[in-house]
Amino acid sequence: MIIQLQQGISADVKENILQKVEAIGYKANEVITQDAHYLVAIGKKEFDIRSIGKLAGVADIHRVSDEYKLISRKWRVEPTRIDLGDGVTIGEGQFSIMAGPCSIESEKQIELVVQHLKENNVKIMRGGVFKPRSSPYAFRGMGLEGLQMFYRICQENGIKIITEVMQVSQIEEMIDFVDVFQVGARNSQNFNLLDSLGEAQKPVLLKRGISGTIEELLQAAEYIFSNGNEKIMLCERGIRGYEKAYRNILDLNAVPVLKEKTHLPVIVDPSHGIGLRDYVADMALAAVMAGADGVIYETHQKPEEAFSDGQQTLNFIESERLIRRMRQAYELRESF
Ligand code: PEP
Ligand code: MN
Repeated sequence: MIIQLQQGISADVKENILQKVEAIGYKANEVITQDAHYLVAIGKKEFDIRSIGKLAGVADIHRVSDEYKLISRKWRVEPTRIDLGDGVTIGEGQFSIMAGPCSIESEKQIELVVQHLKENNVKIMRGGVFKPRSSPYAFRGMGLEGLQMFYRICQENGIKIITEVMQVSQIEEMIDFVDVFQVGARNSQNFNLLDSLGEAQKPVLLKRGISGTIEELLQAAEYIFSNGNEKIMLCERGIRGYEKAYRNILDLNAVPVLKEKTHLPVIVDPSHGIGLRDYVADMALAAVMAGADGVIYETHQKPEEAFSDGQQTLNFIESERLIRRMRQAYELRESF
């Protein structure tokens, strides 16, 4: 059961609600986010929900049978929109394109990608500065210095940035230079990181784990929300299967299923999803038609020279064509 409390509720009024919740055998967890104040009450007993709903200080109340609560559509029917500032928003009613290199490599590279994005009216640039690599000897990113340069150049050009945070201790040093924190597939169930991002108050793009189920992804998002941060988007980036013909299995089934289960925006990453440049555009277009709220993909001025993931990275000609086609596909979808 979720109880939304009235804004500015007094301690006494809240205490009375808590006592009544306890009296029916439920355990209440208090959640205070950027937007609202909730009690998430966990219990099994049948009771008349009106007995709580009528109490002073209760703004709204709902039973939610899902394991995840606050991110459930059973609680909030209206889709969540995330405001990144300066007119850049993500969520239903528009299609968001986020593009950029796998790794931030140099000032020149950032400038070239920014130029490409501006020419195509793309407002969000991706790029990792802390890179989770399968091999410890591979390029692991430019770190904080790279991030500061990335952020500065993008800010000067009116572009928002999304970049991966790998551990709790990085949040504080990164937070002033980030518009959206990305949680990578390998950290999808790093609950300490999710807890801390819940307190961090910056939007989060949460990727599905390499072998993560939909339920696990949703529960991971609930960690962030229940720690105080409502600005979450989910990202399908492919799951591991037995197939060797491509890098991962981009599970586009997840898109309509997630859209039905949660009010959070759903983004698709076809670059990591299929892992082969020639097929990224087709899967991106399929993601649009499946109902995604946005696509995040890798592009680079010279993919063959990229420090990481060049094999799945589009050059600017391919990227420009894909942007145009995704916008056309989105218009078609909205006309159905
Ligand atoms: C990335 O976006 O560069 C990345 C490492 O993605 P994932 O966590 O999905 O593998
Ligand atoms: Mn990558």
